[in-house]
Amino acid sequence: MIDLAIKGTRIYAPEGPREGAVLIKDGKIEGIVNGSEIPSGTAIREAGDMAIIPSLVDCHVHVNEPGRTEWEGYLTATKAAAAGGVGTIVDMPLNCSPVTTTRRALKLKLDAVKGKLAVDAAFWGGIVPGNLAELEPMAEDGVVGFKAFLTHSGLDEFPNATRADLEAAMPVLARLGLPLIVHAELDPASEPGADKRKFSSYLASRPPSMEVRAIRLLIELCRKYRCRTHVVHLSAADALADVERAKEEGLPFTAETCPHYLTFADDGIPDGATQFKCAPPIRSAENRELLWRALGRGVIDFVVSDHSPCAPELKKFGEGDFMAAWGASRACSSPCRRPGAAPSGAASSSRTSCAGPRR
Ligand SMILES: [Zn+2]
Repeated sequence: MIDLAIKGTRIYAPEGPREGAVLIKDGKIEGIVNGSEIPSGTAIREAGDMAIIPSLVDCHVHVNEPGRTEWEGYLTATKAAAAGGVGTIVDMPLNCSPVTTTRRALKLKLDAVKGKLAVDAAFWGGIVPGNLAELEPMAEDGVVGFKAFLTHSGLDEFPNATRADLEAAMPVLARLGLPLIVHAELDPASEPGADKRKFSSYLASRPPSMEVRAIRLLIELCRKYRCRTHVVHLSAADALADVERAKEEGLPFTAETCPHYLTFADDGIPDGATQFKCAPPIRSAENRELLWRALGRGVIDFVVSDHSPCAPELKKFGEGDFMAAWGASRACSSPCRRPGAAPSGAASSSRTSCAGPRR
């Protein structure tokens, strides 16, 4: 006896899209049949031409609970995921507070999610200077891998890792069989343009060379330690040749990109439209087309959302200042503080940073 048949013209089955009906029994898929083969008496849900897909896994999501639940918590984040066809999210180790860089912080997060998940969730741990001894305990408690930044993360409580930090962590991760995932932008960044309301000013501050430098370092370390290494939200097409060569060499090296890099282009972003701010930045239309081609050829392995909400006032819509808006920091001329965000301060020895970035 089948409980439900979901009927439609676009069922994404292993062999490709087809027309028909997905038969469900006891909460599991029993089979995919032609519409005429639905057993009589079965309840039918008509999906029409909507896509019927296996639920998606979004492995790059920032939920912000505990600690910044007013930005977004698990209750709404996982309901939104379910509404979008996402059946599993993997939550980043920031911008929750405390950040997930210790066993204790992971426990607080696991306690915080209880009773709030509308979809499955898994968790990334974080690598920051000084937390090497926490990696194995967090792995024992279930994190699926570890994230590090090579530039300021936007939160002073999640400082970026140095090469030495990665050299210490990668053998541990290789032994544990867990991936290292990295925000691959390596300082020094460039100076922004003068008009802070222009997207081009922000774009100038984070050139493709920041990504290329970071990715070359990661490939070198991946080769040395044979630790699974993954580039999050790759934006710069200039880095694709290096990624492709690393794959051809047989290194366990992968990369993801995001819908915003595949959809938007810099010349379409109006002055002051800080909702487009993210890091690394959205680049040119030509760059976008190269990302599409790399995705098609498997140089980029998959697409993730980098879903990362914040309180609307942090995007500075009134001022339209791309450099001050949340979503990726750049050097600020003076320290700045934002409601709900970590106080700013010296991001690294090389520069002062606002509490801006973190995608
Ligand atoms: Zn992110």
